[in-house]
Amino acid sequence: TLYHTYQKQTNTWAATLNSSVKSDVFFAKARHYSSALEASLDDDRVPLRVYDSLIETVHEFLPQMHRYIQLRKKALKLDELHMYDIYVPIVPETTMTITYEEAKNMVIEGLRPLGQDYINLLQEGFTKSWIDVYENEGKTSGAYSWGTYRSHPYVLLNHQDTLDAMFTLAHEMGHSLHTYFSNRSQPHLYAGYKIFVAEVASTLNEALVMEHLLETTKDAKLLAYLINHYLEQFRGTIFRQTMFAEFEKKIHLVVEEGGALTAEALSQIYRDLNAKYYGSEVVLDPEIELEWARIPHFYNAFYVYKYATGFSAATAFARSILDEGEPAVNRYLEFLSGGSSDYPIELLRKAGVDMETPVPVRNALQVFAELVDRLEKLLV
Ligand SMILES: [Zn+2]
Repeated sequence: TLYHTYQKQTNTWAATLNSSVKSDVFFAKARHYSSALEASLDDDRVPLRVYDSLIETVHEFLPQMHRYIQLRKKALKLDELHMYDIYVPIVPETTMTITYEEAKNMVIEGLRPLGQDYINLLQEGFTKSWIDVYENEGKTSGAYSWGTYRSHPYVLLNHQDTLDAMFTLAHEMGHSLHTYFSNRSQPHLYAGYKIFVAEVASTLNEALVMEHLLETTKDAKLLAYLINHYLEQFRGTIFRQTMFAEFEKKIHLVVEEGGALTAEALSQIYRDLNAKYYGSEVVLDPEIELEWARIPHFYNAFYVYKYATGFSAATAFARSILDEGEPAVNRYLEFLSGGSSDYPIELLRKAGVDMETPVPVRNALQVFAELVDRLEKLLV
């Protein structure tokens, strides 16, 4: 029903997206860049190699994605798996209630590998009212972390007693402590950090808490639920955002080569990418071709790949912190203290994560493959 409404204005959506792409291409040419992609990445001084390497490495792991889809089809006992079945939980929702007090303890336990200095600051945040926890009349929805250079960070939450809310707490405190470390170490000018690195700090916390839970959970049902949750994060953050990134690259190329983006052309490119990413086990209904029409991020081109690179870098950090311990923690805290004192790629490289190589993305997707194995065994 949703897509049928988009269908009615499909030519309008194509015209607006075409205009947006044309404007990207115009400004890139006017400023003598070789492509709109290069112009956009230059804002963060990210080499083209990083973008292309992300796409290539995700392609390498598409067979793992297809394996996950097969497992999903089997677990849901479906003869045909449609795109809308991808969003249904494989494992029944748990009735797990986690109070705010318990959530704080789970976050502390999960983040212990980051060392006592980090834990002390976390506890300071918890006890010294950095956080506005519950829903309230007139309060905005969602969650975020904010602050000024001279204040400690502040966190807005709308805590519900769920597992997701516990992860949100871990996530937002990741942003807060990133801000705290950068403000403490950098002059005002260099304290603020770029989006490219921001989601590394928050996602790393979620990854560490998740690894801790996977390590300590005994109940098979709960374990399957946690693994499914983690797999969905990989699917939504690495695979889906990279598919978007590839779509953006392709549609800009069409315009750069003098072509026009008609509704048919956009739908064709989108459909082919879905077929490639999700594999032959998914029945592609015609409606999914129109998904491009409802993604607002496409009007802010070449942005979403940062979700995929950030998640990969965070997974790489989490693994090295758990495997190596202190030296990896020190490199990571150095990174948190970096603010914008160097370009994002350099800050990460100094901390041991080189996004110009396929290694971080490959390591992250290796974790995805292992999780599919684990879930497969649990669901038998
Ligand atoms: Zn965030």
